[in-house]
Amino acid sequence: MSDKIDLKNFTEKALVDYVEGIGQSSFRAKQIMGWLYRPNIKEFSQMSDLAKVFRAHLDEHAYISTFTEPILEKASDGCVKFGFRLFDGHILESVLIPEPDRNTLCISSQVGCAMGCTFCLTGTMGFIRNLTVAEIVNQVCAARDYLLEQPKEELIGPDRITNVVYMGMGEPLNNLDNVLDSLSILTNHKGLDVAARRITVSTCGIVPKLKELGENSTVNLAVSLHAITDSVRSSLMPVNKRYNIEELLEACRTYPMQKRKRIMFEYTLLKGINDSDMDARILSRKLQDIPCKINLLSYNECSALPYKSPDKERILAFQKILLEAHYTVFIRSSRGTDISAACGQLATGTK
Ligand code: SF4
Repeated sequence: MSDKIDLKNFTEKALVDYVEGIGQSSFRAKQIMGWLYRPNIKEFSQMSDLAKVFRAHLDEHAYISTFTEPILEKASDGCVKFGFRLFDGHILESVLIPEPDRNTLCISSQVGCAMGCTFCLTGTMGFIRNLTVAEIVNQVCAARDYLLEQPKEELIGPDRITNVVYMGMGEPLNNLDNVLDSLSILTNHKGLDVAARRITVSTCGIVPKLKELGENSTVNLAVSLHAITDSVRSSLMPVNKRYNIEELLEACRTYPMQKRKRIMFEYTLLKGINDSDMDARILSRKLQDIPCKINLLSYNECSALPYKSPDKERILAFQKILLEAHYTVFIRSSRGTDISAACGQLATGTK
């Protein structure tokens, strides 16, 4: 690997520090930032408003990373799974979920994941490594470029990425510094210019890190709850043995959040495990003092894992109890299941 510096690892502030460190004015950092995230910018020679001698210096000491030639899989419902080859041979996955009014990109924050949730294929890989800031933001750049290359008449949604969710491989709060820097770049209008209200970071419940996320960003928070008793949750999500449900919910109650924002609780329904009327009632009671919405996800079955999805009637009955308790409750249908691109199905290593 080159010992040059990848400028896509820098937030605008870090870029200012970098250019000032080499004797340039901070204005140069703003100019570079204005170029780095434009489509098809791969070389400093393209940054036409920088002095030639400065461009030559950058060329010698820095570079601009991009993901090229992703492995593409297209689902029958229009979802696209991207596989990006990393410099060390690992493969990173992201999923584009197009809808008529939006394009949501589900991005990864780590290769593999240490959290070992028993219903998740990524969890079976174990932890391989954290992604760099550049590797996180380049997923968005590459999906944006893919959309720009498609014939307009073939697009389901807009020709840009409108929403980003950190729900791919990895636990974002276990790579929080890089995730926060990537959020700074995604939301910067000279960066990828995605509104913070259209970005969601999802966590399995790393309690000590929640406050830091809330204090340093205004993006939406999703919490993977998936069970409402400690015994069931610990069997599904080993993280619950370190931070139990009450500790997690207390961190949610005190989460630093803008007024009118609500936490999204994710609850994957698993047949015979967490899908009874009693589970719904306990869930309703436990969340009552937290500003929140609830996403019910029917489980994406896979042969490698033992869980089953409940039938539609059970899911609707579960939702009804929560609706009667005046929660906003969505039932999320799975997208991209035929290419293993749905929640919990991302699992790849080195190819
Ligand atoms: S569900 Fe999320 S936190 Fe749990 S193992 Fe899978 S990727 Fe990791």
